[in-house]
Amino acid sequence: MRITDVKYEMVNLKMAIPLKITYTSMADCPAVFVKISTDEGICGYGEAAPFAPVTGETEVSVLSVLKMFTPFLIGADPLDIAGIHAKMDSCIYGNGSAKCAVDIALYDIASKAAGLPLYRYLGGSSSTIVTDVTIGMDEPAVMAERAMDWIGRGFKILKLKTGSDPAADLDVIRRIRRAAGEDVLIRIDGNQGYTEQTLLAILPELAALGVMAVEQPLPYWDIDGLARLKASSGTVAIMADESLHDPHDALRLCRAKAADTLNIKLMKCGGIYPALAINAIAESFGVNCMVGCMAESKLAISAALALVAAKDNISEADCDSFLLIEDQGLEMKGGFTYSGCSIQLSETPGLGLDIDF
Ligand SMILES: [Mg+2]
Repeated sequence: MRITDVKYEMVNLKMAIPLKITYTSMADCPAVFVKISTDEGICGYGEAAPFAPVTGETEVSVLSVLKMFTPFLIGADPLDIAGIHAKMDSCIYGNGSAKCAVDIALYDIASKAAGLPLYRYLGGSSSTIVTDVTIGMDEPAVMAERAMDWIGRGFKILKLKTGSDPAADLDVIRRIRRAAGEDVLIRIDGNQGYTEQTLLAILPELAALGVMAVEQPLPYWDIDGLARLKASSGTVAIMADESLHDPHDALRLCRAKAADTLNIKLMKCGGIYPALAINAIAESFGVNCMVGCMAESKLAISAALALVAAKDNISEADCDSFLLIEDQGLEMKGGFTYSGCSIQLSETPGLGLDIDF
């Protein structure tokens, strides 16, 4: 099989409510969709959801990087996923979401060619996944109200964006506990906003309030700080997100004993192929993984969910952006269905999405 054409198209995704985190607020989130065609009539679809503060990419940079990749993609064997990744890496450093768009399209083709849904192509057997839902930073009363709204819609795991004001963070969690009781699982995402001191000061109360994990409390470069926090965080797991891009970061974090959980995002690492390497490294250190997401449409989320379903060591899913996006730009059918927090993957070969462009 050979690649005959690569098409890309910018799509405007819009958050239903702007998602505020410590260092930015996300409202309009342009993405780039990719279509790779082959001489056997099989087409694969992929998506880049660039997020400049984390991946250093914009929709414009993604388009120009895809333009760099196109000459060696045309005529290449789409099943040679390792070879195409090596070419993309030798062409340009980083640029995870541009590489991810190609990677997802290649896996879509490979699993369609194998006649298997992607999660089964990757070795998975269970097609049901539970995702959390993310609540952006706001006034404590507003965040608590949004939390209760999601809980009312069947969600059992909340991820609260925190990290700007530790007192307000505790206020939100206390309000949710009072209203929702002990059964709701809560993780918080500091998005690099805490210092060691500010987090250590609230850790005992976070533990008492039953917070299961703190994601990326410190700046991305502070691996030593993460390791010190992990050594004293007790029942509250420390999760690395912005500190983790590629498999090398995974090895560095695991060797430093800096995280209990790694948050893999296809857009940071460059797609499913490097994500599998990250998970394998983490698993060998006894560290579990979560698959998170940027502002991704149903397309990239279908790939992320297949990865979650495929690997037992990926025990958490933060694949909720399709719930937070108002306008997906395309009427996308298939991929998965959901009821509350429970997602059911499609049994259709590939990503199982019914799209064309
Ligand atoms: Mg995060």
